[in-house]
Amino acid sequence: MKLLDGKLIADQIRTEIALEVKELFLDKGLDPPHLAAVLVGEDPASMTYVAAKEKACSEVGFVSSVYRYPSNISGEKLLEVIDFLNADHEINGFIVQLPLPAHIDEHVIIERIDPLKDVDGFHPVNIGKMVLNLPCFLPATPYGIITLLERYKIETAGKNVVVLGRSHIVGTPVSILLSRKSDPGNATVTLCHSLSQNLTDIAARADILIVAMGKQGFVTADMVKKDAVVVDVGVHRIPSTETKSGFRLKGDVDFERVSRKCSYITPVPGGVGPMTIVSLLQNTLLAAKKNLI
Ligand code: NAP
Repeated sequence: MKLLDGKLIADQIRTEIALEVKELFLDKGLDPPHLAAVLVGEDPASMTYVAAKEKACSEVGFVSSVYRYPSNISGEKLLEVIDFLNADHEINGFIVQLPLPAHIDEHVIIERIDPLKDVDGFHPVNIGKMVLNLPCFLPATPYGIITLLERYKIETAGKNVVVLGRSHIVGTPVSILLSRKSDPGNATVTLCHSLSQNLTDIAARADILIVAMGKQGFVTADMVKKDAVVVDVGVHRIPSTETKSGFRLKGDVDFERVSRKCSYITPVPGGVGPMTIVSLLQNTLLAAKKNLI
């Protein structure tokens, strides 16, 4: 078994991005790309993700800014914030960290984002372009997964891909990306969800198994074909007395047993997570380059 080392590949891509920032912007006296994040409330996981995105920005020479609002902000006020960010020429791209408080309709907020600044790739215009294989911002986690497969030269054409989970941010878009007429892509994709029958049998036929269910340790060795490629998107904080943070991260896959049977597997942490963040940087660089044209 080999690890699909997302941390290693993300490090490489960050180096590539930093070089582009230098050559295309800094050396020419231009402002570097600028990513903004909107953070509503104080959800610890959201705060951690936004902090990680800020750190990643500084590592590649981007400017980053965070717009923080209390959890009782109204939907109308948040739409004003979106309008402000859409109009700010110094900001190349921005994200609204999800989830939002229950009283705010996420779809309304996301649809207000200018698709040309939607570096999370969640706007219906970007999703539609993705389906049609047109240039667009790809959603960060699926983009990270296909980049990881590409960098490890894992063939997807003609393969049986099974995706467990159909969320709008991971399962559904990754199933579309891998079934598109492109490389990576050209796979035969089965998308499973909570009403799917015979999940074990379907998963066990996969050459490439992508798991995004949010169920810790759900995928056991009997669900995995020998020498399959396994991508574990799940992230779970498990309380631990052995770590400084007081928790350790686990995925949706029983790594111990599955890793003995498959050919490649993403670790948690250090697999899909770092690829998600670096994909957001790639989208922001693309947004900034569009301004150069
Ligand atoms: P989500 O919105 O909670 O969706 C979970 C999906 O799994 C749903 O489609 C659900 O089916 C399906 N599912 C749940 N239980 C099932 C079961 N017993 N059998 C079959 N299908 C089942 O999940 P998400 O947002 O995609 O996140 C999934 C995991 O990935 C979470 O642990 C999340 O923290 C992690 N994540 C990680 C990253 C990263 O960068 N590493 C990024 C995003 C998410 P239904 O549609 O029928 O309900």
